[in-house]
Amino acid sequence: MLRAFLFDMDGVLYDSMPLHAEAWYHVMHDIYGFTCTRELFYREEGATGDQVITDMYLEQRGRHLTPEEAAAIYREKGEAFKALGPARPMPGAAEVLRKVGENSLTRVLVTGSGQLSMLNRLSRDYPGCFDVSHIVSAMDTPIGHGKPHPDPYLMGLKKAGNLLPEEAIVVENAPLGVQAGKAAGIFTVGVNTGPLPKECLSEAGADVVLNSMQELADSFDKILSLYLKRNTN
Ligand code: CA
Repeated sequence: MLRAFLFDMDGVLYDSMPLHAEAWYHVMHDIYGFTCTRELFYREEGATGDQVITDMYLEQRGRHLTPEEAAAIYREKGEAFKALGPARPMPGAAEVLRKVGENSLTRVLVTGSGQLSMLNRLSRDYPGCFDVSHIVSAMDTPIGHGKPHPDPYLMGLKKAGNLLPEEAIVVENAPLGVQAGKAAGIFTVGVNTGPLPKECLSEAGADVVLNSMQELADSFDKILSLYLKRNTN
């Protein structure tokens, strides 16, 4: 029986990915001189900031960063992100959250982000939707176990009230996030809100791929029937 929806944050509840990609590019390319494109940060979306930074140093400079060094660079990225101004709530997301509530289902947030500026806005933009005990963030996930590892979603199931994977639906916009949802054994809806081709989400294993959160709001009952069909087969 369905009991909860587990929502990713960036690119699902907020149209924040263009700002994240810009902030990452500014810090890693303009300041630290790494070879990269903005698209790379869409492909890495879902991994923790520490992981993104550590991997780039290892791949391009052959250097292992200490957690303190990675954290310092991630703070710079956070400042660059904040300087770009607030991300707008994703169109359609409030309607999806309302429908989840109307169906008496628990709403859980599962993000790799440690961006306090965003987490603090949740209660203002989506009032009453996410209880603090129903939030999984970079503060919970140990470094090295961000998405695509199933840990964040397994922790989401736990925070939702020790649920089984078949009692939840994941909503994700990024390939690594979809992989994490599926690795946790959960029915995963991919919403392609960014610039990557739609196939990236189906190839990552999404059970269904939609073009926007508005499409999820509009086809909410259809998605619930699809979930039921999958879980009774
Ligand atoms: Ca995301």
